[in-house]
Amino acid sequence: MNSAGFLARLRAPAPVVSVEFFPPKTPEAVAAMLAEAAKLRPLGIDYASITYGAGGATRGTTLAAGKELVALGYGVIGHLTCVGHSRAELEGLVDAYVGAGFAGLLALRGDPPKGETAFRPHPDGLLHAEDLVRLARARGGERLAVGVAGFPEGHPDSPDAASDLRFLAQKVRAGADFVTTQLFFDNDDYLAYVARARAAGVDVPILPGILPVRSLKQVRNFCALSKARLPRELEARLEACGDGESAQLRVGLDWAHAQIKGLLAMGAPGVHLYIVNKADTAIDLLRRL
Ligand SMILES: Cc1cc2nc3c(=O)[nH]c(=O)nc-3n(C[C@H](O)[C@H](O)[C@H](O)COP(=O)(O)OP(=O)(O)OC[C@H]3O[C@@H](n4cnc5c(N)ncnc54)[C@H](O)[C@@H]3O)c2cc1C
Repeated sequence: MNSAGFLARLRAPAPVVSVEFFPPKTPEAVAAMLAEAAKLRPLGIDYASITYGAGGATRGTTLAAGKELVALGYGVIGHLTCVGHSRAELEGLVDAYVGAGFAGLLALRGDPPKGETAFRPHPDGLLHAEDLVRLARARGGERLAVGVAGFPEGHPDSPDAASDLRFLAQKVRAGADFVTTQLFFDNDDYLAYVARARAAGVDVPILPGILPVRSLKQVRNFCALSKARLPRELEARLEACGDGESAQLRVGLDWAHAQIKGLLAMGAPGVHLYIVNKADTAIDLLRRL
């Protein structure tokens, strides 16, 4: 799938389903990830995104794993962050994504490296995701669809919701074609976010990001990292499962299923699933939907 095909799909009436992979560190884990990706491919998944390691740690593996996903027939969105990169390096990576046959790129600022609290750009680098959108557009033209991150509960560093929305609108004005959101567990947060974004002039598709929860431990870790709010009701249902792993997974899938049904009924363009390199949750949700 090329960028035009991907963008047409995002705007089509039938909901888009995408899945997110992260590039594993060992050859065995890469093989396992690709085996999971191969299971999902025949089920109507529209595209796969492949993350970029914090601190730029997986720059090579993002490209390599993304190429393998292209070979499996996926439309691939490669994530890219500004962390530790000069402009020239970022331009080289945009060229490499085009060369690898990626359909698009998710332009992100990235988080500060471990141990640092504030984001510091490379001396010849970029300060905001908005700058990377501009660079990707200038370098890749229309050959790559360009997406950006959105935060229904607000980005943790944002002083307030209004500035968060202003920066989102700036990313879109800089040339972003679509928004993928941070995970959230309450659809009202997405609904309110989309309404605020539309009022701020953001007219591109806003794809909701859903984490099918596997366990209480996992969701607490994810919420600590992303600062997403874990609703007390979901937490209580997971706690009630005790140590039962399959019971916790069932609770997580039921919650994700209800969320997705609600989102599609609200007119969301589809759903982006944070599957943590495991096909089983997406298979279950697609069967139910
Ligand atoms: C869907 C999704 C996928 C992600 N994938 C990855 C990944 O693969 N690898 C990874 O390392 N991280 C990833 N992240 C995390 C992301 O890098 C962090 O959330 C990071 O802190 C912010 O990135 P951003 O692109 O939103 O930055 P920005 O949009 O630049 O925003 C960062 C902060 O700066 C503020 N800001 C933005 N523009 C301006 C401006 N012009 N002036 C002043 N302030 C501004 C924002 O309000 C926000 O507080 C992902 C996040 C999401 C939601």
